[in-house]
Amino acid sequence: MPRLAIVSAMHEELAAVLALMPDESRQAVAGREFWVGHLHGQEVVAVLSRIGKVAAATTAAVLVERFGVDRIVFTGVAGGLAPGVEVGHVVVADAFLQHDLDASPIFPRYEVPLYGTDRFATDGPLSERLAAAAQRALPGTRLHRGLVISGDRFVSTDSESRHLQAVLPQALAVEMEGAAIAQVCHDYGVPFAAVRTVSDRADDAAHGDFTRFVREVASRHSAAIVQALLS
Ligand code: SAH
Repeated sequence: MPRLAIVSAMHEELAAVLALMPDESRQAVAGREFWVGHLHGQEVVAVLSRIGKVAAATTAAVLVERFGVDRIVFTGVAGGLAPGVEVGHVVVADAFLQHDLDASPIFPRYEVPLYGTDRFATDGPLSERLAAAAQRALPGTRLHRGLVISGDRFVSTDSESRHLQAVLPQALAVEMEGAAIAQVCHDYGVPFAAVRTVSDRADDAAHGDFTRFVREVASRHSAAIVQALLS
């Protein structure tokens, strides 16, 4: 039976997904709690990625190796970067890049050593379904699709945000996990898709009401999109 992993970075988002699962049971691996159960009759494993690239990569590897998932969907929040990607909008990633990876001059800036590329694409059909689910779940919400960048920094200054926009003009949004999971899924040949609600503009005001936004808006978005994806 196919097994879908639903991964989020924040407790509020995981809680919203668990509230949709009637029968989840907890299994602890590598200090993480994996919740195995069903959602709309589909076998699901829900888990917190934990924050940052290394933590997210470990979580993804355990999902594949231990739990045998055959697809991974990430739901979470991100900082908007490109003009017009505003708080409350939704971004479905077509590809991920690590904005803090630099093995130059041996490899070009951003290139993942030995992979010959600086970005990993998400799965086309799964991303298409996720975008359609987001549109059904949140009618009237602006949806963007394109490059999302990841790094081990909460980007929260005007100057860093402007710098990222200048060096990576294609980037729609910035977060801290997606590129790591995309790389693990590439290694294992597991389809991956990601949706992020824009919680801030990655600028001097980014810290503001971040937690409240996650609790009151983003976690509802996550649950509604997951529900639409599986129904
Ligand atoms: N200041 C926050 C930090 C949480 S880390 C707090 O008090 O809880 C932010 C999480 O949301 C990460 O999982 C990351 O993927 C995402 N995120 C949202 N906005 C971001 C931004 N501007 N820069 C980097 N990550 C961001």
